[in-house]
Amino acid sequence: MTEVQVATTRPELEQRLGAELSRLRAAHLYRTRRVIDGNHGVILHVDGRALINFCSNDYLGLASDPRIAEAARRASTHCGWGSGAAALISGYNREHAALEESLADFLGRPRALLFTSGWAANLGVLRALFGKQDTLLCDNLNHASLIDGARLSGAQYRRIAHGDTAAYAEELAVAEGAGTGALGIVTDSVFSMDGDLADLRGLTALAEQHRATLIVDDAHGFGVLGSDGRGACEHLLGRGAAAPAVYIATLGKSLGAAGAFVAGSDVLIEYLIQRARTWVFSTAPPPATAAAARAALEIIRTEPEHRLRLLGNIAHFRRGAAALNLPLLPSMTAIQPLVLGDAASALAASRRLYDRGYWVAAIRPPTVPTGTSRLRITLSAAHTLDQIDGLLAALAAA
Ligand SMILES: *Cc1c(COP(=O)(O)O)cnc(C)c1O
Repeated sequence: MTEVQVATTRPELEQRLGAELSRLRAAHLYRTRRVIDGNHGVILHVDGRALINFCSNDYLGLASDPRIAEAARRASTHCGWGSGAAALISGYNREHAALEESLADFLGRPRALLFTSGWAANLGVLRALFGKQDTLLCDNLNHASLIDGARLSGAQYRRIAHGDTAAYAEELAVAEGAGTGALGIVTDSVFSMDGDLADLRGLTALAEQHRATLIVDDAHGFGVLGSDGRGACEHLLGRGAAAPAVYIATLGKSLGAAGAFVAGSDVLIEYLIQRARTWVFSTAPPPATAAAARAALEIIRTEPEHRLRLLGNIAHFRRGAAALNLPLLPSMTAIQPLVLGDAASALAASRRLYDRGYWVAAIRPPTVPTGTSRLRITLSAAHTLDQIDGLLAALAAA
């Protein structure tokens, strides 16, 4: 029998992990998954129960739209499933190219580049574009992937108080006086846990004034905001206004598909093709997922009724919540958080709703600052008014 050698550090590591897990449990910060059977629409099936889903980012109800699944089915019949390699090697399919062209065309930008996820896009873009001679100004409620990407770039990291445009102006003036490197302003457009909007008008002006590059992550705006679903920039700046130099959005939220993209100038996209490591060294997504996203984009382009129904649902929910004196944050987007304070309260409220048949996730640290644990209620075009009234009644009772 051969003897198996166990690395000596292993028990210590196991012990450390075990201790940390115990600490998380005691602090009500332990996280678990539930398995969904079947599709991820408004009604979720878990352990034989049907629950009404109020925490998805599938704002238009497209994730379970049969037309999108059908587009993927058709493409996979034609192309098979895997792409087999990174795009620069042999993984770049006609379906990927068609999606990139459709996205660029929809946004009125010269080019778009498809990534496997928003996380990969943010890491890849920030690392590729900035280095240690540069300075990045980042809203302190930015998504984790923007924080990691900015850190990974090695640039000077300046945390800006949430939504404080004047603080950006001050930091830009300081950074401009101090160095020769590039300046970047990095922000979510719709803040994912609060649902509020960045001051894109103010930031666009500051970027122009200080020759900084504006990088906008529109994960929760693309497809949903703006009169034509072109996202937060269309909503806040109007059509035809100067778009941010670097625009990033995911295809896994309002499009109900998967993947993400960066849109911008020809030079930007060509540079990313050479240098964005999460893109260069990663297998291209299955062609069928690109076909699915393109079908979703076509629905967004031609069927404004989903966006209008979502707006109606948001208004209906906020009216009902106001009548119940529920302390919602002042958000006009599909993200409607109810801050409860400590992690235990948020978890208990989420459990009580679950028992009543409503699935609303409790969001706790480190996703949100300590003391601001919340129910992150998200609305979809696919909710009926009855379902929303049912949730309101359950919230009042819970
Ligand atoms: C969800 C999200 C991402 C990550 O996108 P994925 O495609 O899910 O990896 C990035 N930024 C923001 C603001 C997000 O909400």
